[in-house]
Amino acid sequence: MAETTAGNPSAASYLPIGGGFLLAEVGAQAIDTPDAFTHEQREFFRTARKFGRERIVPASPAIESKDFPTIRALLREAGELGLLSLDVPEEFGGLAQDLTTSALVAEAMTVQGSWSVVFGAHVGIGTLPIVYFGTHEQQARYLPKLSSGEWAAAYALSEASSGSDALGARTRAVLSPDGRHWVLNGTKQWISNAGFADVFIVFAKVDGDKFTAFLVDRGTPGFTTGAEEHKMGIRGSSTRSLVFEDAQVPVENLLGEVGKGHRIALNILNIGRLKLGVTCMAAIRQVVELSATYARDRKAFGKPISDFGLIREKLARMVALAYVGEAMSYRTTGLIDRRAAAGGAAPGTPDYERDRITAVEEYSIEASILKVWGSEALSQVADEGVQIHGGYGFVEEYVVERIYRDNRVNRIFEGTNEINRLLVPGTLLKRAAKGGYPFLDLATKAARAAEAGVPAAAPGRLSRERRVAELNKLLFGFAAGVAAKELGLAISERQEVLAALADVAMEAFAVDSAVARALQAAPDPVAEACVSLYAEESHLRAVQRARGALLAAVKDPVKARGALERMRRLVDEEPGDVVAWREAIAGPTIELGRYPLAWN
Ligand SMILES: Cc1cc2nc3c(=O)[nH]c(=O)nc-3n(C[C@H](O)[C@H](O)[C@H](O)COP(=O)(O)OP(=O)(O)OC[C@H]3O[C@@H](n4cnc5c(N)ncnc54)[C@H](O)[C@@H]3O)c2cc1C
Repeated sequence: MAETTAGNPSAASYLPIGGGFLLAEVGAQAIDTPDAFTHEQREFFRTARKFGRERIVPASPAIESKDFPTIRALLREAGELGLLSLDVPEEFGGLAQDLTTSALVAEAMTVQGSWSVVFGAHVGIGTLPIVYFGTHEQQARYLPKLSSGEWAAAYALSEASSGSDALGARTRAVLSPDGRHWVLNGTKQWISNAGFADVFIVFAKVDGDKFTAFLVDRGTPGFTTGAEEHKMGIRGSSTRSLVFEDAQVPVENLLGEVGKGHRIALNILNIGRLKLGVTCMAAIRQVVELSATYARDRKAFGKPISDFGLIREKLARMVALAYVGEAMSYRTTGLIDRRAAAGGAAPGTPDYERDRITAVEEYSIEASILKVWGSEALSQVADEGVQIHGGYGFVEEYVVERIYRDNRVNRIFEGTNEINRLLVPGTLLKRAAKGGYPFLDLATKAARAAEAGVPAAAPGRLSRERRVAELNKLLFGFAAGVAAKELGLAISERQEVLAALADVAMEAFAVDSAVARALQAAPDPVAEACVSLYAEESHLRAVQRARGALLAAVKDPVKARGALERMRRLVDEEPGDVVAWREAIAGPTIELGRYPLAWN
């Protein structure tokens, strides 16, 4: 791919609202894509990748055995290279880069699952609350040390009895009689980096009801950590409980305002979700490389297993998922960067940080989609990677075994995939109710299309896929419109309907992003085959889930039959040459022994 220094200039004026991908026609507005990363963004990625390959991969056995001094030393090294300070303002020793660059570095750190969690918990959920919500004094005290890796950070929201229901936390804080300390009591559960972190972002309820964030230093009187959990995966990452028994937190360590902790907790989680989704693409590309090289070397029935159609099919699907996932990921980081920059404030200034957090909030639907889609795409890929390795995929010497285990938690933390699914249509409907999203227009447009049918797309590149992109969006609009009409306000309580709608929205975002990415770049037969293959399978899933939403929402069989009948006009029946698409992808993947569409 050609390297540019100017980024994605054609996308300069493109700033749709959150969830806007359902409203505009594919390609009508430019998107940011990996194919046009700037020279500087690529340089950051290369630096991080070199560090990952040369320092993290060889240290993998030490990391997996929870050798915390080694992990801390690696954090220091990462800090010296500037990898811990991309989101930190220059004033506090940071590099004040955009989210796209910081996501790229997070990708490069995904060479080892445990390390990726250590890194993400430190630079993301651990450091960002101070960047976005800290006072100048708090920022000056913590950020230089967190940027250099001298200190490590952790984020403590979950409790034993409240994970998904995070705002139901029981940890309490009361002001001491002399007004000098917040006195914390309670226990946090599952806290990443707890074994070695120096500072913890802790959420507690002031006087038992005002959800609030605090900065708690290791060594605070009354604060201890529990024993290490023994986990299925990411075994090298530290996971412990935090115990507060009349812990004395200085009053100046209140983060943000009393009673406003939910804003910190939820916005930081949005960034965590988004980055989690993005990093899954790196792991997918890693599995492609491991599996393609293994398949080339491994012989069965007298030939390499990479000659077999079933193995080629698996590899082609993995590659298509990586291409599509990258398109969704960097479209979203680009949207956030552009919206943050639109305010006109310089990166690293308090005004810019405020604009950035507002931008993250705006695209929370996209962040939830990335989290669910990315972790589930990686689940499929890791599973098929193990399968390609046969029995060897089941033993520890092979990296794919670890990736398979390490990925499982991605569907659980940063909001479970159930919770994130509910958030996709839930947020959209809430915004619509407040007049912030034209849901009625979308539903009306889809209902009309279901009456009149949808014409073929204009001839040209990816014309069938362009039509599928529109059909997936119309399927969402149609099913959501019927369900909303049928259920009224009760739709927000009907989880099976919401989750099915979320799946349709995800497929709409995926195909729209992939088609837009491919069309913006010079024609590339491998990239276009990825789009075609994904669109084919995606559309079938979108139809099935839209049908699922309708059947869950509409009880009356006559009404349900009528709705399904109309929905059929939104189904693409054109045959596609799936075998040719798979071959177009599998051939170069096996020949190169890696992801063939690498932008790096
Ligand atoms: C290795 C690891 C590291 C972690 N690191 C951190 C960390 O650094 N900081 C931190 O604060 N937390 C951390 N967590 C906690 C993590 O965020 C929670 O485990 C997660 O949010 C799920 O909460 P839970 O485990 O209490 O499950 P529950 O909330 O009890 O969920 C159990 C099941 O019920 C489903 N469910 C729950 N509520 C609903 C609902 N309303 N509708 C439908 N289904 C629902 C869930 O989706 C899930 O399938 C970590 C967890 C792990 C395992």
